[in-house]
Amino acid sequence: MNNPYENAVKQLENVAKILKLDSEVVQRLSVPERFIEVNLPVRMDDGSVKIFTGFRSQHNNARGPYKGGLRFSPEVNEAEVKALSMWMTWKCAIADIPYGGGKGGVAVDTKKLSEQELENLSRAFVRAIHDCIGPEKDVPAPDMYTTPEIMEWMVEEYIKIKNEELKMKNSGDEMLATFTGKPVEAGGSEGRTEATGLGGVYVLESLAKKEDLIPEKTTVAVQGAGNVGYYFAKLAQEIGFKVVAISDSKSAVYRKEGLDIDKAMKSKEKDGSFETWKGGEKITNDELLKLDVDVLVPSAIENVITEENAKDIKARYIIEMANGPTTPDADIILSKKNIIVVPDVLANAGGVTVSYFEWMQNKRSEKWSKEEVFGKLKEKMVSAFEQTWEAMKKYKADMRMGAYALAVKKVVDAMM
Ligand code: GLU
Repeated sequence: MNNPYENAVKQLENVAKILKLDSEVVQRLSVPERFIEVNLPVRMDDGSVKIFTGFRSQHNNARGPYKGGLRFSPEVNEAEVKALSMWMTWKCAIADIPYGGGKGGVAVDTKKLSEQELENLSRAFVRAIHDCIGPEKDVPAPDMYTTPEIMEWMVEEYIKIKNEELKMKNSGDEMLATFTGKPVEAGGSEGRTEATGLGGVYVLESLAKKEDLIPEKTTVAVQGAGNVGYYFAKLAQEIGFKVVAISDSKSAVYRKEGLDIDKAMKSKEKDGSFETWKGGEKITNDELLKLDVDVLVPSAIENVITEENAKDIKARYIIEMANGPTTPDADIILSKKNIIVVPDVLANAGGVTVSYFEWMQNKRSEKWSKEEVFGKLKEKMVSAFEQTWEAMKKYKADMRMGAYALAVKKVVDAMM
C-alpha cells in the first residue's frame, strides 16, 4: 500500500539533494507546522448523534496564509491530509500566489448522508476549527466531494460564530474571504467551477507548443469525470484536441475517432455512470491507463500510476490533474521511458489560482467578469509552466523535480 505522506516526504528529500538544502530545513518541511484532529458530533435525521473525525493540516505559512481544500471521503486519513497539505505549499509557490499550504477533510461517505446531515456535518466542522482559520490565517476551499454549497454553509457558520464573539453584526466581504470556492451568488468568483480543468488545458496548450503537437492529431485519455476531469476533457476538446477516452470509478469508454464528451456526461448524469452509454467501446480503468494515446490525464485519485502498471503506459505525456496520481517508484520507470510528466503541483494549480482571485475580490469588495478571471488565470498558468520548464532545464531534472526545485526554493527563501 502506498502511503501518500511517505511519497511526499520522499519527493522533498529528492529535491533537497538537487538544491543542497540544509537538513534542518528539510526536517521542518517534512512535517506540517500544525495538525488538528477533531471529533464532530453530528445530529442525524433519525434524531441520533453520530461522531465523525475531521482533520486540518497546516503545512507551512512562510509565503502567506495556509491554503487548500477540504475533502469529504471515506478514505480521508492523517497521512493523506498531511501529504496533500505539503503539495499545496509547493503548488501555491509554483502558481506564484501569496499562500502557504494546508488541507483538511472528514472521513465520511457523503452518499450515505441526507442533505440536512451534510449541512450539519459541514457546520460542525467549522465550529470545531473556527479558531484556526480566517482570511489571513488559513483559507479552506472545495476538494473531492465538497461543493460550493458546502463552502456557503461553512462561511455562514464562520460569520455567525465571529459575529457572536464580536457581539456585532459584520457580514462584510472580508470574512467571506475565509473560504473560497463559494457559489457566485454567495461571494464566489466567476469561473471557479471550471478553473482547475481550464488551468490544465492552458498547461496542455503550453506543452503542445513546446513539443510541436498539433491539437487535432493529439489523442488524449482522461481518467476521472468529476469536476476536474470533466472540464479538462470538455475544454481540451473545444480547442481541438482529440479526447478518445474518459472514465468514472465504475467504467471507462473509448472511441478512436474521439468521444462526444457532452453526450457522454449527460448519459452519466442520468444513469450514474458511463456503463450504459453507447457512444464508445467499454474498457476498464486499467485499460484506459495503458491506451496507446499521446496524452494521459489522471484526474481522479492518488496512486493510480504505480510500479506495477507504469511499464505498460504508452502515452508520451502525462498531465497530472489529480493530486499525487503517480508514486515515486512509478516516476522512475516513466522517466526511463522518457515520458514527460507534467506534475500535479503545476497542472492542477488553476483551482487554487482562481481561489486566490476570489479571496482578492472579497477583500476588495470587487466582482470580476469571467473573461477577466480567465485572462488572469491564463497568464498565471502559462508563466508557471514556463518557469517550471526553465527549472527542469536548469537543474537537468524531470519536470516534477524542476517544479519542486522552483517551489521549495521560493518557500525556503521566505522562511529565512
Ligand atoms: N482543492 C484544490 C486543490 O487541490 C483547490 C484548493 C484551493 O482552492 O484552495 O488544489
